Amino acid sequence: ETGLMWFRRDLRSSDNATLHAALTRCRQLHCVFVFDQAILEPLPRVDRRVEFIRESLVELDEALRLLSKRPDAGLIVCHAVASDEIPRLARQLQVQAVFAGNDYEPQAIERDTVVANALQADGIALLTCKDHVIFERREILTQSGGVYGVFTPYKNNWLSRLAPEHLVDHNVNTLGNRLAPRPPEFQTPVPTLADIGFEPSNLGQLKIPTGMSGGARLFEDFFERMDRYDRTRDFPAIKGPSYLSVHLRFGTVSLRRLVTIAWQRQLAGSAGAAVWLSELVWRDFYVAILANFPHVATQAFKPEYDAISWETGPEAEALFAAWCAGRTGYPLVDAAMAQLNQTGYMHNRLRMVVGSFLVKDLGLDWRWGEAYFAKHLNDFDLSANNGGWQWVASSGCDAQPYFRIFNPISQSEKFDPEGKFIRRYLPQLAALSNKAIHAPWLAKPLELQAAGLSLGGNYPQPLVQHDAARAQTLLRYAVVKKAP
Ligand code: FAD
Repeated sequence: ETGLMWFRRDLRSSDNATLHAALTRCRQLHCVFVFDQAILEPLPRVDRRVEFIRESLVELDEALRLLSKRPDAGLIVCHAVASDEIPRLARQLQVQAVFAGNDYEPQAIERDTVVANALQADGIALLTCKDHVIFERREILTQSGGVYGVFTPYKNNWLSRLAPEHLVDHNVNTLGNRLAPRPPEFQTPVPTLADIGFEPSNLGQLKIPTGMSGGARLFEDFFERMDRYDRTRDFPAIKGPSYLSVHLRFGTVSLRRLVTIAWQRQLAGSAGAAVWLSELVWRDFYVAILANFPHVATQAFKPEYDAISWETGPEAEALFAAWCAGRTGYPLVDAAMAQLNQTGYMHNRLRMVVGSFLVKDLGLDWRWGEAYFAKHLNDFDLSANNGGWQWVASSGCDAQPYFRIFNPISQSEKFDPEGKFIRRYLPQLAALSNKAIHAPWLAKPLELQAAGLSLGGNYPQPLVQHDAARAQTLLRYAVVKKAP
């Protein structure tokens, strides 16, 4: 049998469940990645994620050639509409099956259905595999067979079901000779960014490591810190988390390997590893929520929250623009937005803080924030992003109760007590004292003057007063309480 491996969000050759299934089944296997015009077209011409993918493909192409021991094998890289290109290529290469990793996002499911139907018309099968989660769809269910809407029992069940069979390393080292030579017209290097209509981003300058080697390097580095994760993860000025999210997003690390190691360390008594493993379970949880309740992509998980009326009109749009640009006057919020705008990453604690600020201080629809994150996060993932935003808006499964409203000043005092993170991203506040830096408008005019700060000049006045905003939010959310 001849097959075609379609790489999507699994850009690695090692421990790739789909590649393993394809190589086990086929005598000859072609490999392809499509820069999907349907996805790329609407993006701005500078996008770190596109560059991350391209760099990772260069490494994947090399790895496949090495695995095959043939210089003429490797990755076919196309720039086309994937739902047209895959069936066309499958016909051209005369394959009997196309292999791809399961994707649970509504648009991806639609695309895969179109592809499967087109292939079927030519007698070609689309065979998909679970790869980027440990448990998918309805694999983890309540005792009565329902889908969990609450995290802790889901996690407990997930952990009790976890067995070595879920963590098998899908090693393909002995199957490399099944990788087929590329047809002559595809013997071309991975297209450059310019070839696909993009310009370089600051990815290289930020030293964000790409590809399998980048993912492995970050994990090695994090391994040293894993045991302390429970104590360090909430402080954005500290190198606490793993920074692996973009690699998990594009599959340049194997989730199974990460879980294997975290699980072993948890069993050996590491509290840090246990908390980190929990985060990986949250990831599976939100993927399952999206797969089982696809309405969350556009609506509240809990329908009564769709009755909330958010601020709209030019004033609301001006508030939103200030939030996006990091000009709210609340230093932690602004520093966090600067981190996002400059690097495409934002610390998890800060995602919660800025999210809560948008929804519960500015009274804006969580979907506005969700869309902004989707555009700017390197690790943007529909399930985790939507889960996170519905959590802060209290509309999601197992979300923060609506009456719990983060105070952006006390969050700042608690999680960036010395203002180190704030100073890194807002140098104009650097000379303020540790006390004043969290809420500069409360400082004495003399201190502001001595620090060279002019509110409304080189740093904005606060957009809203938190206490008043909080009271308004409670009123806004009252419709939820009254819902039948
Ligand atoms: P670590 O702390 O090292 O965690 C390890 C991995 O666990 C992460 O890489 C991620 O894959 C997973 N993870 C951690 N926390 C969560 C979580 N709450 N939900 C789901 N998975 C989690 N994460 C994304 O990957 N993509 C997103 O688009 C995204 N949007 C978010 C939006 C909001 C409003 C919030 C509150 C959270 C969002 N998260 C998102 C979750 C989390 O903030 C990031 O996964 C994390 O900050 C990434 O950094 P890290 O890899 O250093 O994480």
